[in-house]
Amino acid sequence: MRAIVADPGAASLAVRQDPPTGADEVLLRPRRVLLLAADHALPSRRRGFLGVPGSCVVGVVERAADRLADLARGTRVVIDPVVPCGRCGHCRSGLAAVCPDRTIAGLRGRDGGLAELMAIPAANLHLLPDSIDDDRAAFALPLGTAATLERRLGLREEDLVTVLGDGAAALLATAVMRTRLPRTRLLSDDPATARIAAQWSLRHRPLDEAGRRHDQDAVVLAEVSPRLLDAASGMLRPRGQLALMADGVEPWHAGVLASLRRLEATVVLAGLGRVADGLAILRRRAIDPLALLRRRASLEDAVGLLLGAAPELDGTLVQIGHEPRIAAARP
Ligand SMILES: [Zn+2]
Repeated sequence: MRAIVADPGAASLAVRQDPPTGADEVLLRPRRVLLLAADHALPSRRRGFLGVPGSCVVGVVERAADRLADLARGTRVVIDPVVPCGRCGHCRSGLAAVCPDRTIAGLRGRDGGLAELMAIPAANLHLLPDSIDDDRAAFALPLGTAATLERRLGLREEDLVTVLGDGAAALLATAVMRTRLPRTRLLSDDPATARIAAQWSLRHRPLDEAGRRHDQDAVVLAEVSPRLLDAASGMLRPRGQLALMADGVEPWHAGVLASLRRLEATVVLAGLGRVADGLAILRRRAIDPLALLRRRASLEDAVGLLLGAAPELDGTLVQIGHEPRIAAARP
């Protein structure tokens, strides 16, 4: 089978053996993989990930153990990429979401979906109803991440919330927060992000108009950069909440995080959220994520895109199995 293999600094399309499946795992045939700007870090020096990228994966079951009767061949599913170890103290006490030894398909210690076949535990599969097509289902994870974060922040309806950043993650976080928190706004640079914000009637302003009034109850960073951390430190109120949509902090974040400590701000590390939350939004048709689809690509095209500029990657839907030509999704 063919798979994209990422190394720090490189990515290539390789022919590999079919992946072996463990006793609790299913062999999956990926059909759609959504790429976001964050996937760009994979073939760069920022992470040491070696393996097959792709965390937002929709596919069909190719082979499952007989006892997994509801996972017959051809069953449509979306994956939850986070696989807890199942053995540590956290996992045994029901806190598998914070398992320190968890692997994440396509991101950490486990191959993802940019391949013709992948292995994934049966427990990580969510069955797709006919009402959710493959394209929309590919957004279940970023939608779920936004919804899980909204719940974790526990804000009140009158609270002021600012989302900082460009692209699909920022737009989805704003759209999801806004459904319960009407005073949510988005500050971004990218014209395409501004256009979709207008289309979805989100409150939006250019990032360089960010004030330093220390009045926001919560600031959400869709990506972590020095510029966004600085903007956040100027607008967050004392004892406000700063949410980083990231899996961990890096050493260079330390200075800004120290200044936030002077405001007694709470820093929330919001890694990946629950796919089930994203599916619930899609089932209700509360948000139609297809506006975020910027490009369709084949597995071959995805290699070049992974090595290109991060904004170019955002909203790219890789179709596997019926090789489309690279094409813009909309004029
Ligand atoms: Zn564990």
